[in-house]
Amino acid sequence: MSIKSIVIIGAGQAGANAILQLRALQYQGQVTLIGDEVHLPYERPPLSKDAILDPENTKLEILSAQKLQDLGVRHIAGQAVRLIDREAKQVVLANDERITYDKLLIATGGAARRLPALDALAQHVYTLRNLEDAQALIPVLQPGRRIVLVGGGVIGLELASSAQFRGCQVTVLEAGPRVMGRCAPQLLTDFMAQQHRQHGVNILLNTQMASCQLEGDIVKIELQNGQVLEADAVVYGIGIVANAQLATDAGLEVDAAIIVNEFAQTSDPDIYAAGDVAKQRLADGQMQRIESWENANRQAESFARHVMGADALTEQAPWFWTDQLGANFQFVGAMDAEQWYVRGEMESSGVLSNFILFGVSNGLITAAIAVNAAREMRHLKKMVNTAQAFELEKHLDCSLALKSMF
Ligand code: NAP
Repeated sequence: MSIKSIVIIGAGQAGANAILQLRALQYQGQVTLIGDEVHLPYERPPLSKDAILDPENTKLEILSAQKLQDLGVRHIAGQAVRLIDREAKQVVLANDERITYDKLLIATGGAARRLPALDALAQHVYTLRNLEDAQALIPVLQPGRRIVLVGGGVIGLELASSAQFRGCQVTVLEAGPRVMGRCAPQLLTDFMAQQHRQHGVNILLNTQMASCQLEGDIVKIELQNGQVLEADAVVYGIGIVANAQLATDAGLEVDAAIIVNEFAQTSDPDIYAAGDVAKQRLADGQMQRIESWENANRQAESFARHVMGADALTEQAPWFWTDQLGANFQFVGAMDAEQWYVRGEMESSGVLSNFILFGVSNGLITAAIAVNAAREMRHLKKMVNTAQAFELEKHLDCSLALKSMF
């Protein structure tokens, strides 16, 4: 069957990369990109960092209007898709326009998980997911302001870093026993919490809000231990909810997120899903949902390759990064390794240093973290992807270059 029309719902990272990959693979047919945001596709990683700290000099755009035109894409911005009509193979927009597809990609991402008690205050409460959210925070994060961040995940810590950099008094409330507990090992998360505290960020672990109220311009937060915090603004980042309603309504297989196979294909062979909205069923039946920039790009590429009949991507250990307190942290592999080993010094004279952590399971390197050592990532990815045998004296000897270990 010749493919004449590909429709992509969602103009984020996955949607934009799908277009680039399709055209790189010589797809000549129509492409329609539909986004409910009014913007051209833009990068989200800077939203918690440079988009707040240095908005004028931060480039977010992934595809310019000119580039979309050059790629022959019809971009429908500021329009939500109302439903997917699988029988007619059409998507129906909010304005009732119908667009026919041969292949459809759902790349609708996720939305901030809501905390209704905070939302009910209506003022001085923020979340961070899109460009408008980041822009709204710029005037809020002023020197001396008391900012309470609910959730000590990547959003919470990146915003803590940005807010303290702007001179705010920052408190992080984390429900679990450690920050970034979902995506990093304890050795590192304890270190990160300590670094934030050294920068003046008040990190409260095992802490949850019991109630909140607005008194004039001040948000009063009562914690479950009875303590009361006062804040000029509260920002919460307690995870995301996949924007999977369209798929659910269309009768696709959904379990909180849209279930896909290794080709990003849903339970309907003509419909694919990529990025934060997708959850991959692995060969052993386990489900894997990776909420990262790289995964959005890879799943979008898997979609394009499958549609175009190109070879599938080879499997790779997941990779992501975060920038906090002026330091760059990069992670590759599964973060639940049995043992962690440090190469280098985590701190030198009280200052965060550059170092590497090796995650080792059954004697093999299954994960690695590079802190202020981005250039080593290439070698670390190779070690993890080939599950190199860990040799303590060799791998931890800083006089031996990682690139010499193959
Ligand atoms: P997240 O990374 O899942 O972290 C949410 C944190 O909030 C978790 O530690 C969670 O603890 C905690 N939490 C949940 N409910 C809470 C409550 N009521 N009070 C206090 N703490 C609570 O999610 P996120 O930080 O909101 O980020 C959203 C998404 O953006 C994620 O997909 C993330 O990967 C992505 N993102 C990525 C980057 C990056 O890669 N650099 C940067 C920003 C955002 P439990 O785990 O115990 O529930």
